[in-house]
Amino acid sequence: MQKEISLKLKPSEAADNEIVKDFIAKSIGLPIDQVSGFYRSKESIDARSSKQVWINLSLKAFINEPFVLRPTIQIDFRDVSKAEKKVVIVGAGPAGLFAALQLIELGIQPIILERGKDVRARRRDLAILNREGIVNPESNYCFGEGGAGTYSDGKLYTRSSKRGDINRILNILFQFGAEENVLYEAHPHIGTNKLPHIITAIRKQIVDCGGQFLFEKKVTRFIIEVNSIKAVETADGNRFDAHAVILATGHSARDIFELLHRQNILIEAKPFALGVRIEHPQALIDRIQYHCITRDEHLPPASYGLVEQVNERGVFSFCMCPGGIIAPAATSEGELVVNGWSPSKRNNPFANSGMVVQVAIEDAIVYFKKNNPDAAHLHDATNPLLLMHFQRAVEQACFKAGGGKLVAPAQRMVDFTRNKSSIDLPDNSYLPGTISTNLSEVLPSFIHKSLQGGFNAFGKKMNGYLTNDAVVVATESRTSSPVRIPRNAETFAHPQIKNLYPCGEGAGFAGGIVSAAMDGEKCAQFCALQLVN
Ligand SMILES: Cc1cc2nc3c(=O)[nH]c(=O)nc-3n(C[C@H](O)[C@H](O)[C@H](O)COP(=O)(O)OP(=O)(O)OC[C@H]3O[C@@H](n4cnc5c(N)ncnc54)[C@H](O)[C@@H]3O)c2cc1C
Repeated sequence: MQKEISLKLKPSEAADNEIVKDFIAKSIGLPIDQVSGFYRSKESIDARSSKQVWINLSLKAFINEPFVLRPTIQIDFRDVSKAEKKVVIVGAGPAGLFAALQLIELGIQPIILERGKDVRARRRDLAILNREGIVNPESNYCFGEGGAGTYSDGKLYTRSSKRGDINRILNILFQFGAEENVLYEAHPHIGTNKLPHIITAIRKQIVDCGGQFLFEKKVTRFIIEVNSIKAVETADGNRFDAHAVILATGHSARDIFELLHRQNILIEAKPFALGVRIEHPQALIDRIQYHCITRDEHLPPASYGLVEQVNERGVFSFCMCPGGIIAPAATSEGELVVNGWSPSKRNNPFANSGMVVQVAIEDAIVYFKKNNPDAAHLHDATNPLLLMHFQRAVEQACFKAGGGKLVAPAQRMVDFTRNKSSIDLPDNSYLPGTISTNLSEVLPSFIHKSLQGGFNAFGKKMNGYLTNDAVVVATESRTSSPVRIPRNAETFAHPQIKNLYPCGEGAGFAGGIVSAAMDGEKCAQFCALQLVN
């Protein structure tokens, strides 16, 4: 007999499979030796009670019959080396990689063109970035094999369940080397140290099936004839012909947005969010969230999610990384961008999170009228690149305030809310270094004021959160794309160019690893449908 069972256990109980088995036996009223095995189908933490943190478990138990391992989705990766149809995929982030895997399943040959380097070579560029504050514009936290997903935090939680099959994506990641817990934890997480191996395994599968995977191939031109894309050209002068192109270049490929605009291919400004990264001692967040003095060793470092409306503007936490590191995520010299990651064990002493504010087109116009009064193109609401210019302007202001080499302007949290310069800064995880700065002089005032309101409100929601032991680091600006590359809702193709498929986060149709992967699959399916008809 197989039985679905739900249990509510203490963390130490849930961590021990023998104890769990015992609870299963008790719940069905049979001796433990009749439980041949079980696997977990859902696991979540319930920390609402101030007395006890509980683990909610859903299990599939096997009783008086042999235990069978969890079923996995079987994928038929075909040999596409001689396939008649070829699709160029620009960008090897989660969207591009999952588009390639899907095309292979559908019998089409993918040709991936990636501007950056493979994961190993990329790691060396990241070391230089962190140590010397020098940005390689082709190889950084956003560009290179696996895209922004490779050296990301690897949280796999997404709310975009309508966009595709989340379990399928988690299952594929599991088959390429992610640990089994990504299949059942409520907030699955891989960790920066483990992602590169998974990405390498995906590349190997694509190449073994006869797909092409080319590095240091930056696309610099679209070759279009009679509203149909025929080929792309790369910076080294090569031309790649294709039956269709999936454009999955991510939210930081500003040159692609500029190229599309120059080639008169329709793009639109897209509201996004910008703010800061905040970092607390992890032990403080544990104390607040788990109502304890020290965290139970069986509980993971605590996380949080916060949201508030401040003067009718959304302020919210974004990409929270327990036990994490603040990373320099700029893609060009002269810009300062921070983001966050954590290793699989989440065992660093700090908890960081983006804290961002919604930005609309009108905000950018007000900002530029004040700061660039003579730049008419920056006061034009119809300029599709307006919000991208705003994003860059704030990043440049932060770089300048830091004094170069990616030193980040920063302020203690209470000082930030009181508009008071910090005498010194607490220890923090940002490797290129921080410099005490009154951030009201650097951030656009609507961002600064909204964050002040947000922090005060968050301090009321989480007692102890508003503290001068926390540091606010500027700027968190690459939350989502400031540009949308539109597509037809029925065909997923660009409305003007019938075989160009804008895809993933850069096109404005995804946010995060899993949703970008799902969008990659969807674009590949629509593309295949058009190619066989
Ligand atoms: C530090 C950090 C932490 C993050 N943590 C998380 C997390 O925990 N969970 C989560 O869900 N998301 C996280 N993200 C965001 C996540 O990585 C992105 O949402 C996701 O990678 C977007 O996927 P994508 O394929 O659409 O684009 P990207 O991953 O941005 O990939 C685009 C690819 O296109 C390439 N490219 C760009 N221009 C060109 C060109 N002209 N020619 C050829 N190639 C080009 C780029 O080099 C890049 O490899 C994090 C991001 C960062 C930077």
